[in-house]
Parts: sequence; structure tokens; C-alpha cells
Amino acid sequence: MPSPITTRYAPSPTGRMHLGNARTALFNYLLAKAQGGRFVLRVEDTDLERGSEAFLESQLADLRWLGLDWEAGPGKEDERGPYRQSARGGLYEDHYRRLVGTGSTYPCYCSATELEVSRRTQLAAGQPPRYAGTCRELNAIERARHEAAGRRPTLRFRVPPGRRVAFDDLVRGPQEVSTEEIGDFVVRRADGVPVFFFCNALDDALMGVTHVLRGEDHLTNTPRQLLLLEALGLAPPAYGHLPMLLGADGAPLSKRRGSASVGDLRAAGYLPAAVTNYLLRLGHAGAPDDWVDPAAQSGAFRLDRVGRAPAHFDEVQLQHWQREAVKRLDPAALEAWLAPALPDSLGARERGLLGATVSHNVVFPCDALPWVEVLFGELPPLPDDLAQVVERAGPGFFRAALAALEATGPDLAALAREVRQRTGRKGAELFMPLRIALTGRGDGPELGPLLGALPPSTLRHRLAVHAGGRD
Ligand code: GLU
Ligand code: ZN
Repeated sequence: MPSPITTRYAPSPTGRMHLGNARTALFNYLLAKAQGGRFVLRVEDTDLERGSEAFLESQLADLRWLGLDWEAGPGKEDERGPYRQSARGGLYEDHYRRLVGTGSTYPCYCSATELEVSRRTQLAAGQPPRYAGTCRELNAIERARHEAAGRRPTLRFRVPPGRRVAFDDLVRGPQEVSTEEIGDFVVRRADGVPVFFFCNALDDALMGVTHVLRGEDHLTNTPRQLLLLEALGLAPPAYGHLPMLLGADGAPLSKRRGSASVGDLRAAGYLPAAVTNYLLRLGHAGAPDDWVDPAAQSGAFRLDRVGRAPAHFDEVQLQHWQREAVKRLDPAALEAWLAPALPDSLGARERGLLGATVSHNVVFPCDALPWVEVLFGELPPLPDDLAQVVERAGPGFFRAALAALEATGPDLAALAREVRQRTGRKGAELFMPLRIALTGRGDGPELGPLLGALPPSTLRHRLAVHAGGRD
């Protein structure tokens, strides 16, 4: 039996989680669950300037809200931890020493200005800018001179010349670059701070991560990370690069711009299962057309159906899944979801009735508010277009409806049959004036449950208002 896989999500707490991040997390989670594997959470918080504890907390809360709980990570430490990079400094030091010991690095004393001049010269000569190799072969005396001048070196990785780095991208298929195209790169800054892709690759290896799905923006890091892990004698994960998620404006969703952040969606009343159903189809063609319960989503995830084309955020689609999610809430969950939008004065019985009435017709909790008045309050005067429909039906129609109500009670099928017999009206000609008179609106939840939810006296009163006068 193959050993179970380990995937991970590795957020940098430099902003709020946006939908692109959420999709990356979801796909990694589903990939692990589909194969009985582990999903690990690693916090990439070495970027001290921009990192923030509040962003981290909000991202962890977003993950939990989405139902993407981790087997190991913050709050669930194990022998492969700690799971915050800020607590892994010692491990990075150890591995820098090992890397230096293999001879695959060298100290680079070039200043930022020198590097910039070199870069411009290469660009001017029509060459792609790459580290020129100035410090590659410094001897001990030259190094000592730099040290004596107080220069603090970065640590550079010596990219082996004349080789090809190849890997099979889980999403994009076979990839290959020549090491001639990769300049020697910095793995530790002059101030001792490790660079992102060193920690990132090392931690994946040390944490036993076997599969990494991440944004396409990291594709160019991968060959360098493979070289690093090779030099350290560590097994790399399989990498898959997901196409970017673009906003409606065509620009990449950015957590710093705050657009479509998971927190915003939650605050607007979106349900987590709606968000995951939406994300499950975003650049992934493996899911069936209809609703997939969160517990069944891993079974619907097919890595070989993740596409390479950029996906666009589409709020209409998201709202479609939201409707599906609201319909599926059980009564207690529905009430809890509606509660923030409802007046405190509304009693438990009313809340239950309201939920049962509107559950197929609301996208957000506030959409239920007008129905509080319809069910438990007074109807405002009808707008002109609706008033005309009622006038056309005429008082006789409503007198017939009143009589039918007395005869049948609030059972829609029986009531409709009775009204039809008395008036000869059917279909929209029958139901529309009834709906408008009873709810003050031309659309909304099914009429049947509405009849049951409205007190009989209210039903009578609302029909009677239109039953006076002459035909
Ligand atoms: N911390 C990185 C990011 O947020 C993760 C990159 C990766 O998944 O390898 O972009
Ligand atoms: Zn140098």
C-alpha cells in the first residue's frame, strides 16, 4: 500500500485571506483527504515587517470557518513542528551549516549598488539580468579584505552549470529549465534572515510534505528549490502550480487590496459550504454539476481535472451556490444564520415560521427582513403595477377568495380549486392577485407555506381589503 500523502497550506500572515488563497487551501485539503492523507498548516511568518499576529488569527479563523482543519500546525504541534517559521530559526541555521558544508554556497559581498549596476549593464547589452558571479571564486585573502572593510555577505547558492532541472508539475505537466538560465541566488540575507524559498522548500521536506499545490506565481521558484533540496540530500515534494484567480476586473485577487476576502464574504452572510462549492469548480472540472456536501467534496476532487487557464471570480456563480447552501440549512442553523438581520423583538415561533417560509428565497440574511412585515406586520400600500393587477381581478374575485377560504381553510390546492370554480380564473390569473393581496409583492416564497404561516385573521383581512366596492 502506498504511504499516505501529506499536503499543506502555507499562508504568509501579511494580509487577509482572499478567495485565491482559500482555493489553494481547499485543493490541498481535498487532495489529502481524497487519499486518506494528512493536511498540514505551516505559517510563513519570517517576513517580520509586514507580518501581523492579527492577520494570522484572521486567516486561521477563516480556515476553520471553511472547515479546512489541519492535522498538524498551529495549536496542533507534533514532532515535525514547530509550525511557525518564526520559531524554526535553529533548524534554518543547522541547514545553512550543512549547505555550506557541501560547498554549494559561497559568501557574496556585492553591495546593492554593485548588483544594480551589473543588472543594468546586462539589460543594456540585451541580456537577461543574472548574478554575474563576481564572488563565486573569491579566495581567502579577498574574502578577508571584504570582511575587514566591514562588509556583511549574503549567502549565495552555487548553481551547477550545464544541467537541466526537470520536474513533472501536477497541474502543468513536464517542466524543464537549464541551469544556465538560473543565476546563483541568495539563500540568506546579509542580516542573517533566511530568504523565503529556502525556508519554504526546507520546511516542506522536513515536515514530510509530499504534494504542494500553490499559486502559479511560485513557478519560477521551483527549480531553485529543487536544486536546494538536492544539495541538502532531501526529498522534494511534487509541486503543482494553480493558475491565478482573477477578479471581475481581470486583475489578480490580492489579499492586500482586500477584494473578495473570505472575511468579507462571511460578514456578508455567505455560508462556508457555498464558498467551498463555488471554489470546487474554480479551475477544476472534476466536480458534478450539482451540490456537493462538504464531507463529500474530497471524493469529487480530481487533480487531473485542475485546469491551466486563469479562473475569474464570478459573484453570480457564488450566489447560486449560496442559494443552494441556504436551502440545505436545517431549521436551527437557518435561524442562527438569519438572526443577526432580525429585530430582537421577534419571538422564537416567528423566527421558525419565517425561516421555513423564506429558506428557498433568500441569498443573505437581510433578504428575510421584508418578510417579517409580510408575515407578522402590516402591508404597505401596493405599488402601482401590483395595484393594477389587483384591480383587474376585481372585488368579486376577492369575495370569491374569501368564501373559498371559509370553505377550505388555508390549504392552497383546495383553496385554488374553489376559487377557480367560483371565478373561472386559473394559473397566473388566479395566483398572482392572491399573492399580491396576501403578501404585497409579486414574487417571493411559495404561496402554500405562506398561507400556512399567516394567521387566519390576517388572511381574511388582506383579502377583505380588496373585496369591497363594485365589480
Ligand atoms: N507563503 C507562500 C505564499 O503565501 C506560500 C508559497 C507556497 O505555497 O509554496 O505565497
Ligand atoms: Zn557578490
